[in-house]
Amino acid sequence: FVPNSASARDIAHHLHPYTNLKVHETEGPLVITRGKGVYVYDEDGKDYLEAMAGLWSASLGFSEPRLVDAAVKQLKELPYYHTFTHKSHLPSIDLAEKLKSVAPVPMSKVIFQNSGSEANDTVVKLVWYYHNAIGKPEKKKIISRIKAYHGVTVASASLTGLPNNHRDFDLPIANILHADCPHYYRFAQDGESEEDFATRLADNLEKLILKEGPETVGGFIAEPIMGAGGVIVPPKTYFEKIQAVLQKYDVLFIVDEVICGFGRTGNYWGSQTFDLKPDMLSCAKALSSSYLPISAVMVNEKVYQAMVVESEKIGVFGHGYTYSGHPVCAAVALETLKIYEERNIVEHVQQVGPRMQAGLRKFLDHPLVGEVRGTGLIGAVEMVQDKKSRASFDPKLGLGAKLAKIAQANGLIVRAIGDSIAFTPPLVITEAEIDDMLARMKKSLDEALAWLDEQGVA
Ligand code: PLP
Repeated sequence: FVPNSASARDIAHHLHPYTNLKVHETEGPLVITRGKGVYVYDEDGKDYLEAMAGLWSASLGFSEPRLVDAAVKQLKELPYYHTFTHKSHLPSIDLAEKLKSVAPVPMSKVIFQNSGSEANDTVVKLVWYYHNAIGKPEKKKIISRIKAYHGVTVASASLTGLPNNHRDFDLPIANILHADCPHYYRFAQDGESEEDFATRLADNLEKLILKEGPETVGGFIAEPIMGAGGVIVPPKTYFEKIQAVLQKYDVLFIVDEVICGFGRTGNYWGSQTFDLKPDMLSCAKALSSSYLPISAVMVNEKVYQAMVVESEKIGVFGHGYTYSGHPVCAAVALETLKIYEERNIVEHVQQVGPRMQAGLRKFLDHPLVGEVRGTGLIGAVEMVQDKKSRASFDPKLGLGAKLAKIAQANGLIVRAIGDSIAFTPPLVITEAEIDDMLARMKKSLDEALAWLDEQGVA
């Protein structure tokens, strides 16, 4: 690396999240310097179609001037104030009101955090708080699912059901359990229908609750479509059956809309796509199109009323952040939600989503592709060694990571999750840009196949 270049300084000083540190030392970063629409540009001006909208998140693309204006206006008016001890300010009031008005089920109150992880940390505390308030403090266990992604703080990483987030960190913490992952292609038994698979998973959840003791199980958290676990779309009747079990045992249902919220699945919420009735809902990312960090948890009236009782006992609801409902972040989020409405973003996803889904499904004809899944503007292509047996490639080959690297050279930024390649482009993507994205992916798949040949892998 050229001494003192951005890459050299990055390697010298910058510790990267979710990065293989040794590889980073030799290969260095991709330094992005600007963005326009669905494209970002590196230091040399090379364009990349950002097929992940950053981290599943920059839904309005990378150059929305109205969000910049909203931030500047708020910075000039009131750059900071807090929401502790009965203080408030207009942007957080407006945003709370707005979020309630678009919620998938009636919600009572909204509490703000700065990230999806913090939102889900808040959720863990609220489950405990709620059950304390109603006199069932032993209902402390929260069930998440294998392959779920709910964040990286100590509690939210515990909810996350991926080994990288647990191993060596002494996680999960006590009282967090993981139920089955609803990935039919990977986990169905021979000859099992999707319906039977869904029934089996719901039965397993019930068995788990009975084994633990229903009097100890207080919450169940789920992403409508699992994102970072591999874009896993549950079978049709899965959530209906799961929700029936939760109701039977008085278990709070928390939906993590951090990826699926705000149009991603072709409805405003993933909860609407799968007919979910959450008691609490966490959201982040597209809430502000990720231009500034902000997340929210909505709670229903039942949860809120219990919280009032508990805070009376203790004297205060003892949770919150310096930046909860930060006025500049809230103003940008509010503007983002306005833009979604004015530009009919959900209808746009309904219009262009099928083009992406159909285009991804065409890759099923490619020798490398075993499964394509997704809906709206979230999708994934899974590469397999043997389509018939669904056998995966040896993970040591690192095919997914190799494909992502080839794609990057071809001007396409995707996310490799094992050998699955995820796509969540900005929601403003046009049909022509979807075609561009698919063409760059096709080229990358062909080059990955040629690379496999070079490695002598059939
Ligand atoms: N929940 C889901 C579904 C996510 O995908 C993520 C991040 O990707 C999180 C929570 C954590 O959000 P953050 O990275 O903002 O902490």
